[in-house]
Amino acid sequence: SDHALAYPASPDDVDWDSHYPAFAGTGKTPAFADIGCGFGGLLIELATKYPDTLMLGMEIRVQVSQYVHDRIVALRALNAHSTPEPAPESLPSVEPTPVPSSSTPSPYQNVSIVRANSMKFMSNYFHKHTLSALFFLFPDPHFKSRKHKARIISPTLLAEYAYVLKPGGIVYTITDVKDLADWMRTHLEQFPLFEPMSEEDLRKEGKGPILDAVYNGTEEGKKVERNQGEKWLACFRRIEVERI
Ligand code: SAM
Repeated sequence: SDHALAYPASPDDVDWDSHYPAFAGTGKTPAFADIGCGFGGLLIELATKYPDTLMLGMEIRVQVSQYVHDRIVALRALNAHSTPEPAPESLPSVEPTPVPSSSTPSPYQNVSIVRANSMKFMSNYFHKHTLSALFFLFPDPHFKSRKHKARIISPTLLAEYAYVLKPGGIVYTITDVKDLADWMRTHLEQFPLFEPMSEEDLRKEGKGPILDAVYNGTEEGKKVERNQGEKWLACFRRIEVERI
């Protein structure tokens, strides 16, 4: 249970230097958060595409979060002497510096994982308005009505997500469960601090590499692909101005 886990009292208590040693002293904190990251496919795929962006996965299962941790350690070791690939010419300059600067560390130094219950402890990890992307990819569906309160998108939790996201930041959701897709979209639409973004508009803004990873980068996304299941994507922008 949660009681067995030690949570930081505030984001200032997280030792980010130990998560991202190659970025120690830069003052950088995570800008992408993958909630319920499972086996870490999204983080691994985006790590090399946005090498100067710090990314954090949150995963509640012990073995799964340990697996992701070990995977990152191994990838860092394997790539310790390679220099980051420059982003393709065609990649428009969007998201925090997609083109590696000369100071960009070797690959996978920018990804890490915490074992955490994100439904209770988001704001223990992220300061207000610091994330530019939040991912909810193929979350657990909790089919039965009495279990809907366990869903990762709810009005209370949306307030938390709006708090940690930068104005202009994006929430990415995708699922193969139609009922859950409708649930997530409806709640996000009804929440005053989020506005829907079409996939087309996000691609025009240069977020294509992110969307591709959202569709196909995770283990669950690949499984749905193999089974030729349908995928419902819904993305929202954290609005710039509080209309209150
Ligand atoms: N996003 C991954 C993917 O697309 O492959 C994993 C999808 S899997 C169906 C959902 C994941 O969310 C599981 O690994 C589960 O342990 C995790 N999870 C569920 N509730 C969570 C919570 N409250 N906090 C953190 N992780 C959670």
